[in-house]
Amino acid sequence: MTEPAPTPGPWTFATVESVRPENAHVATLRLRVPDRRAHLPGQHYIVRLTAEDGYSASRSYSVASPPEDAGVVELTVDRLPAGEVSPYLTEDVVAGDEVEVRGPVGGYFVWRGESPLLLVAGGSGVAPVMAMLRSRRLSHPDVPVRLLFSVRAPEELIFATELGPETTVVYTRRTPPAATRPAGRITADDVAAVAFDDGPAYVCGSTGFVEAAATLLAQQGYDRSRIKLERYGSSGS
Ligand SMILES: Cc1cc2nc3c(=O)[nH]c(=O)nc-3n(C[C@H](O)[C@H](O)[C@H](O)COP(=O)(O)OP(=O)(O)OC[C@H]3O[C@@H](n4cnc5c(N)ncnc54)[C@H](O)[C@@H]3O)c2cc1C
Repeated sequence: MTEPAPTPGPWTFATVESVRPENAHVATLRLRVPDRRAHLPGQHYIVRLTAEDGYSASRSYSVASPPEDAGVVELTVDRLPAGEVSPYLTEDVVAGDEVEVRGPVGGYFVWRGESPLLLVAGGSGVAPVMAMLRSRRLSHPDVPVRLLFSVRAPEELIFATELGPETTVVYTRRTPPAATRPAGRITADDVAAVAFDDGPAYVCGSTGFVEAAATLLAQQGYDRSRIKLERYGSSGS
């Protein structure tokens, strides 16, 4: 299903209200956006950095906060060591800074209250599905929801304090001491344990993770029209 993309707002300078570390390499920027347009859970913003010589670089970042959080937009950024933009956003930006943004963008990977709701995320791909989880908690508490969240190790969890019984964490490299599931990439059994008979599945993460998860969902009976995919880029699991 293709939905019309809502028109994003104009480029504007947002004020950084806070920078909150989520783990050793992921931070959440809380931005106050002037004349902010309400977003749908799953949409993203574009961040543009411009150097003194005029060189600029733009990157997309999903909104992790729910639309109900009026006036602000939270972006959760994973630092890629050799990256142009993510190291600046996670290491250099401090409260009070201004960051140029445009959004919200995207009309496909959005959740409008469809039920039941399956969320599948790898690493920082949890950002847009957290907007869905948070919005569901605030405005659609009767919608059944499950989150399957793949991270490398316990210290890699993002939004750890907000994950409840709806969440199953898959550790790909190292598990917590009490874990019964051995470390490893998501399997058909992991997906079977969270799959619903109907409703959409939203899958977000690195390209490799998204492709693998989509294949497992299809094997589990999710036809293509029920699966929405958001790919962040190369590598990872
Ligand atoms: C719709 C959309 C939403 C996104 N939302 C988020 C988000 O919420 N949080 C977030 O952290 N990122 C998100 N991304 C990814 C983000 O836009 C950037 O690609 C990422 O931050 C890297 O930018 P950079 O300038 O730091 O690295 P670059 O300078 O672009 O790349 C540096 C190196 O890392 C590789 N690389 C690029 N992207 C990735 C990646 N995702 N994983 C592994 N290697 C990569 C490149 O091939 C290159 O070798 C999103 C991408 C899209 C398309």
